Amino acid sequence: MVVTQISELGKDQNWENIITGKISELGTPEFRTNNSGIETGNFLDLKLTDTVQTETRLLLAIALSAENLSSGRGWPDAVHILLERLGNITGVSRAWIFQILELTSDYILQDYTFEWARPGYAQIGLPAFANFTSNVHLPFYKDLVDSRLRGEWQKVTTAKMEPCWLKENQQKQGILSMLTIPIFVEGIWWGVLGFDDCEREYAWNYPQIASLKIAAHLISVAVVLDRLKTKRKQYDILHSITSCSSWEYDFKKVNFWCSADLFQLDPGAANNIYFPLRKILRKIHPDDCKPFLKSVMHYLSLQNESFRWDIRLLMNDGNYRWFEIIGDISRNQNGQLEQFAGIAVDIHQRKKHEFAAEEQAKTDPLTQLANRRAFFAQAGQEIARVRRYPGQHFAVLMLDIDHFKKINDRYGHLNGDLVLQKLGKFLRNEIRTTDLAARYGGEEFVLLLRETDGSYARLLAERLRKNIAAMKIDIEGRFIHFTVSIGVAEYHSNDCSIEDVIERSDSALYRAKGHGRNWVEIVSS
Ligand code: GH3
Ligand code: MG
Ligand code: MG
Repeated sequence: MVVTQISELGKDQNWENIITGKISELGTPEFRTNNSGIETGNFLDLKLTDTVQTETRLLLAIALSAENLSSGRGWPDAVHILLERLGNITGVSRAWIFQILELTSDYILQDYTFEWARPGYAQIGLPAFANFTSNVHLPFYKDLVDSRLRGEWQKVTTAKMEPCWLKENQQKQGILSMLTIPIFVEGIWWGVLGFDDCEREYAWNYPQIASLKIAAHLISVAVVLDRLKTKRKQYDILHSITSCSSWEYDFKKVNFWCSADLFQLDPGAANNIYFPLRKILRKIHPDDCKPFLKSVMHYLSLQNESFRWDIRLLMNDGNYRWFEIIGDISRNQNGQLEQFAGIAVDIHQRKKHEFAAEEQAKTDPLTQLANRRAFFAQAGQEIARVRRYPGQHFAVLMLDIDHFKKINDRYGHLNGDLVLQKLGKFLRNEIRTTDLAARYGGEEFVLLLRETDGSYARLLAERLRKNIAAMKIDIEGRFIHFTVSIGVAEYHSNDCSIEDVIERSDSALYRAKGHGRNWVEIVSS
């Protein structure tokens, strides 16, 4: 068995002579000459005639297949055509491709994926050649595998082999000579291009082997392009389902790349968009930029899982849209940051629904004021704030409609609702935007007055009471009058929670009711 590295082919003087001597013969088929004296020719005119040497014909065959294999159109048909051409030119019995499905330190799982064979020599489809496993520890076979892994070609003349299982195997198949060339795809041993001769001990020469090496590379290109096509299809499906775009930040070049659809840029304008870092940061909503960068820095220091963060990005039309940024980091061998890359998923609709649902969960449906839960959340934050800054204060007003049951009884429940709505609107208009009005219960309302002391709160309560008493609500020509009682409490520095303040305003309200209603009562400090 002769095993030689393809890179060593060039060292052979004879090989160089043949190649340089015969390449000119590519020009022998018909050429068109115009008046300017420039010759042009169609590659399809290159005829595989028997008159030229095998080496030249192999080159011509590969030239004819090159475009289909390297353009992405050639998988798998152009591979079949190439094998047929190579087989016919060399006169071998079979031209084939084994594809490696699994390679371990113990075995290789291969499949016989392509074959061109002369009549009577076909093997594809035979059980022994479909998904077959070979033990790499068998004598000779390990050498063969190692040689293929090194990218070398192998010439096997069965009669010259020492007796072994491989020789028996070759004999069983009636192979007199075989040439194999490994195919590497993206740097990984992918398969073998092989030629069996069952009628002669074919004397492969260097130029022929060199040409076949080019053929193996073209097959490799076709595989890569086919993989790209599949990946692109997967990306398109992902993109159409999730509305996502891809992006990549290069730490070395300090630039950002994204697919054109991310910013809704005209995809015809450019498929790939490059931004300097400061320009991409300007596209992030000002409120989201700092927290986003903080979270990226945190992720870079931990990097346990994928990075995920929601931000608003400025679109080409001047509007912001919500995106979930999902990414992963990659480092080089020295552990230095190389890339931060991932996808941006358009979550604008989902965010809009989330915000609407959040808003709904905080709002009383009848009056559109904050509900009790929202009140406690905001008032809780307020007490935490004033406790942090001594000298700060706030007040709480608890307001209850007097004899509301009677209003319901007299005007009906629906008109009672109307009264609640009107009062809600009135309260909202009477307070500052920094204050908060909420519906605390049935006909009970609560006001949170920020930066307000007891005496100002009492004045406001008085004003509200008077104005409410003077209100008349027109219901089909009949006017509803009603009054309210109000309990006022201000924050004390020894209050621990908002419940403490509420409790005092509640007892003040109770006393206001006891005072005969339509009354304001303040908790004395
Ligand atoms: P008081 O002066 O002591 O507060 O008397 P009141 O009748 O206002 O108080 P009470 O607590 O006895 O009754 C409150 C009434 O408010 C009873 C309930 O039917 C009514 N109410 C509670 N929620 C609603 C509502 O959403 N719509 C309407 N129309 N009525 C409601
Ligand atoms: Mg009441
Ligand atoms: Mg009540």
